[in-house]
Amino acid sequence: MYYDYDLFVIGAGSGGVRCARVSAQLGARVAIAEQQYLGGTCVNVGCVPKKLFTYAANFHQEYHAAKGFGWQVTRPEFDWATLVENKNREIERLNGIYQDLLENAGVELLNGRAIITAPNRVVLGDREYTARYILVATGSTPYVPEFPGNEYVITSNEAFYLDRLPEKIVIVGGGFIAVEFAGIFHQLGVETHLLYRRELFLRGFDDSLRENLKELYIKQGIHLHFNTDVKRIAKSDEGHLDIELNNGNQMRASLVMYATGRRPNTAALGVENTAARLADNGAIVVNDQFQSDDSHLYALGDVIDRVALTPVATAEAMVLADHLFGSKTKSMDYENIPSAVFSNPHIGTVGLTEAQARKNFGKEVAVYESNFRPMKETLGGGVNRVLTKLIVHTASDRVIGCHMLGDHAGEIIQGFAVAMRAGATKADFDNTLGIHPTAAEEFVVLREANEPGDQT
Ligand code: NDP
Repeated sequence: MYYDYDLFVIGAGSGGVRCARVSAQLGARVAIAEQQYLGGTCVNVGCVPKKLFTYAANFHQEYHAAKGFGWQVTRPEFDWATLVENKNREIERLNGIYQDLLENAGVELLNGRAIITAPNRVVLGDREYTARYILVATGSTPYVPEFPGNEYVITSNEAFYLDRLPEKIVIVGGGFIAVEFAGIFHQLGVETHLLYRRELFLRGFDDSLRENLKELYIKQGIHLHFNTDVKRIAKSDEGHLDIELNNGNQMRASLVMYATGRRPNTAALGVENTAARLADNGAIVVNDQFQSDDSHLYALGDVIDRVALTPVATAEAMVLADHLFGSKTKSMDYENIPSAVFSNPHIGTVGLTEAQARKNFGKEVAVYESNFRPMKETLGGGVNRVLTKLIVHTASDRVIGCHMLGDHAGEIIQGFAVAMRAGATKADFDNTLGIHPTAAEEFVVLREANEPGDQT
């Protein structure tokens, strides 16, 4: 049977673009449909603008620290509109780069919403296309739970385009986005409250990181409200948001932002016109080769709800392109995925948490941890500290977890992730010379385990 394309990709985000490009480079005839913006969440309302905002926010403490190093800093003033405008310009530049990448690879770019009408068939506008394979890479959207007044809240999508900074913000959630935006808004001068429904935010991260970041956020002046949730929100005549909490207390804020997870984008996509199955949260169910129950329909990235990170989506895309049009030798490895939270300071992490390691290996676990004031703060006078932590499987001496809270933690942990992938042992860490004076050298001078490996 003749198809218009070998591969029709729906969604030009990190995963979709990578799979389209690489497949085209492998000789496939590829089209990619996008209804909104090239680059998807990461480029437009995720990783990229968020990182730019963290740079903007960090100047707050840089100006403060500068005084201790002899700089006479006149009272710095921050202009939100300039930041947003410059950020938008940079994103437009990146959108253009994505377009060039696709065009140079020979991928046909179709603007509009694509709907799957039958196996191997997609409609976009008034045209129907046929394809040997369809790839759904439609990503995810912020999720806001149902409660009275939820129409008054914003999500990260809107936070990137606010007309002006609020005086007081309440951020609900305890994951990556809530913690990152709490740090950003606070440093930009907004009175920031973070509400999280359980005891301690960043569930799933190593407890030392969570506890230490909590302490630092409190010292910085961020208002943390744990074991707290929103019952309802009403808007006052003056435009304030009156928040009723589940503990009976009331709060008033100018803005409420929900960062309570994201849901796969599969609504009104036409997946039901194929044999593909959706999980309860809307994720497309796929096997190890990213193939759905419709053997010609594939999905990857946030829409399959495995690990919602850009480098994971692009790695999945490389595997799929190889599987469909290449050597069919690649497979996806979800072990030891490094990640960073761009909180203040940053978290960088790879491998098992202490709790996971103890659960998996019982007494064969040694934990090395150090918590210190970074040299910059001695003259800078800031409150931030650095935490470095190694988890070691004592029977093999392998380092199975590496965690850091501190400036540039993401940059630092990236290198250690390579070492762990190569099977580095604690002895390898010990035998590596430090780079002095750095915070990262602490990882190669950790000598005293928290407690003997034979105790838990
Ligand atoms: P997360 O899944 O990280 O966190 C969601 C948070 O919302 C959790 O604290 C969760 O609580 C809470 N929550 C969920 N449902 C409710 C509810 N109904 N009421 C109250 N609280 C609720 O989601 P994010 O939105 O922060 O981020 C989405 C994903 O995007 C991340 O998981 C990550 O994969 C990716 N991301 C990565 C970044 C990075 O790499 N730096 C940055 C930003 C996002 P509980 O713990 O109780 O479940």
